[in-house]
Amino acid sequence: MDSETDLVEFFSFSSSSSSTSFEKDRHVKFLQMMYQLLPYQYQTQEINRLTLAYFVVSGLHLLGSLHTIDKDAVADWVLSFQAHPGVEAEVNNGQFYGFHGSRTSQFPPDDNGILVHNGSHLASTYCALAILKIIGYNFSNIDSETILTSMRNLQQPDGSFMPIHTGAERDIRFIYCAAAICSILENWSGMDKEKAKEYVVNCQSYDGGFGLIPGSESHGGATYCAVASLRLMGFIEDDALSKNWSSSIINVPLLLDWSLQRQATDGGFQGRPNKDSDTCYAFWIGAVLRILGGHKFIEEKSLRGFLLTCQSEFGGFSKFPGQLPDLYHSYYGLTTFSLLEEPGLNTLCVELGIADYAAAGI
Ligand SMILES: [Zn+2]
Repeated sequence: MDSETDLVEFFSFSSSSSSTSFEKDRHVKFLQMMYQLLPYQYQTQEINRLTLAYFVVSGLHLLGSLHTIDKDAVADWVLSFQAHPGVEAEVNNGQFYGFHGSRTSQFPPDDNGILVHNGSHLASTYCALAILKIIGYNFSNIDSETILTSMRNLQQPDGSFMPIHTGAERDIRFIYCAAAICSILENWSGMDKEKAKEYVVNCQSYDGGFGLIPGSESHGGATYCAVASLRLMGFIEDDALSKNWSSSIINVPLLLDWSLQRQATDGGFQGRPNKDSDTCYAFWIGAVLRILGGHKFIEEKSLRGFLLTCQSEFGGFSKFPGQLPDLYHSYYGLTTFSLLEEPGLNTLCVELGIADYAAAGI
């Protein structure tokens, strides 16, 4: 192609040739390519390597293709990101000893020339443990006590979590990561659940959705983090709609109403009112509806139709129809097709974001 016009025509042709069915084999090939080598466009995401790896490994698992990866090599690689205290006394020094997002550092070496790593991050730790769970790693080899004891250093008096011991935003996303970490490690000593519950409940907005912090605008991702956290912590029941929801700690009918209104006329889901439909919100909000037992109200045929317009002929999914795919939206396209019970896909543990039988430790 020697001109910009050719390029536009090439991609126009690509998008117009979109398939009318879920292309499982192409998605497997797409993720296998990402497993071998990430394209250079992901360089800026270097700090999120474990998150990108989680999308690849969990995606292949959903597609029933976990046998195509070297599980021992993956486990060694993931464990190489784990932070360890120098001596036991350090566990109480305010730091978090989980998993680093990357082996590089944004800090200069100290006076002795020793590299100061970025701190462990809650999101990287959740992704690392999720990968290890998926590949069936023996968790008795992991020092859970150190992860959980030091994780308590991140919880704030209002119940929220900061993601890293040096600070940064404190919001509902990191309560979700902490709850998922405790759930995977089957040990809740890493957090004060009651305080976390209070914070999450205070994030429910007047319209029924949840914001990232109390008083902020409802948002699809924050709403998933809220509902999945409450489910993981055991404060709401599965299929709350068919139970006695009037005694629930959250306003279930208003949440159901807000969530269902996010399905747009094109069949896709938007993260907030007046926004375009975007592949990832089909999962964030579809998962909320699944946990509540309200997924039967989703207009499934039109949702499937929207997602197929975002399915790339190269495998993977894009954010909006007809664009090139990226790993993030590919993973949430796959998880949504799992929610829609696409044949050949493993079923999801929606609150943990990984396939069911991985969540059950099988
Ligand atoms: Zn998105």
